[in-house]
Amino acid sequence: MSSTSHSSSFASLTFDEKLDRLAEVAVRVGLNLRAGQEMLLTAPMEALPLVRRITEHAYRAGALLVTTFYSDDPCVLARYENAPDASFDYAPAWMHDAIATAFRNGAARMAIAGSNPALLAKQDPAKVSRANIAASKAAKPAMELITRHEINWTIVAAATPEWAKLVFPNEPVEQAVAKLWEAIFTASRITGDDPVADWLAHGARLKERVDRLNAKRYAALHFKSKDGGTDLRVGLADQHLWAGGGTTAGNGVYCQPNIPTEECFTTPHKDRVDGVVRASKPLSHQGTLIENIRCRFEGGRIVEATATAGEDALNRLISTDDGARRLGEVALVPASSPIAAAGILFWSTLFDENAASHIALGQAYSTCLIGGEKMSEEELAKLGANSSLIHVDWMIGSAAMDVDGIAVSGAAEPLMRAGEWV
Ligand code: ZN
Ligand code: ZN
Repeated sequence: MSSTSHSSSFASLTFDEKLDRLAEVAVRVGLNLRAGQEMLLTAPMEALPLVRRITEHAYRAGALLVTTFYSDDPCVLARYENAPDASFDYAPAWMHDAIATAFRNGAARMAIAGSNPALLAKQDPAKVSRANIAASKAAKPAMELITRHEINWTIVAAATPEWAKLVFPNEPVEQAVAKLWEAIFTASRITGDDPVADWLAHGARLKERVDRLNAKRYAALHFKSKDGGTDLRVGLADQHLWAGGGTTAGNGVYCQPNIPTEECFTTPHKDRVDGVVRASKPLSHQGTLIENIRCRFEGGRIVEATATAGEDALNRLISTDDGARRLGEVALVPASSPIAAAGILFWSTLFDENAASHIALGQAYSTCLIGGEKMSEEELAKLGANSSLIHVDWMIGSAAMDVDGIAVSGAAEPLMRAGEWV
């Protein structure tokens, strides 16, 4: 029932045909949109060609209605440069409430990532953080349905000029955009003869790994790097559940929330993280590059945080709320993942988190706890799941990283050696 011709090799396809393949994978695999389901889409203006391909595939899959909310970087900048001060504590709760209503009524959610990651780099950091807090608070009713996986949702990416210039600063902009598109196509696993079948196989491989990890019931993970920069024990939440390679949402639809995805991830215990950890890649956060992050944890909390660049941004980030100093996710990704192999810093979590094992500060996923979707915030906290307005992933894995699984008895079992699965 495929709408694209899969007979020719990927390199011989036109750009429009490649885009169409990404759109097809986004709708059929990422979202797995059901006939009769409404779909909400958010996208940067520059992603219009991909939006059109996705919309067509959505209606062919039986979409009831596709509604797209566009964002435009220059309009965002116009606010920062001209709006009254009160603007930065305001967010349109009425719109987020409507979106939450759509989700409760059965709508699926797709986002196209591609806005300039450095858009706000030169703006007043206090304004940026106020606006983010206001937006997070207003979006909470809708976001909760997403983080609890009540509905099927997915994120895909579109190359845009400003983003491409960051990733390939030495190329003329047209070449940079073309190179970023190729990197997105490769990372998104759509270059084979049958991308939909390839995704099913990839998802099954991740699922097998996840099942094996879940059977172990580890009490903790121990990360130790050969250079001595990282020696971190990450206790796992009491009823932690590993996830990866797709999720069956609360509405019964099996979806792939991230395209690409290479990670197996679970919930750390918010009070049981101890030791030191050094980031293996720079973290791009709201346009600031935070380099050589080093943190010391005690009883789950960051008690010392340094960076050789962007240290202010790091300190602001971990001061957002109490949960911002604690972990909400730990993820294992082999150092040989296709995204790591590309050797590119994408300036985008969607890609960079799939290049290396990582940890995330802030909000935990309730779906990464046994029965977590149905628990209250208090019940989740009792099991060790962290809560925060932020969720920021940063990379700690590399080919120099060993990871052990620690059993309840205290016995250590090798999970990864030199960055690869044992
Ligand atoms: Zn992750
Ligand atoms: Zn994450």
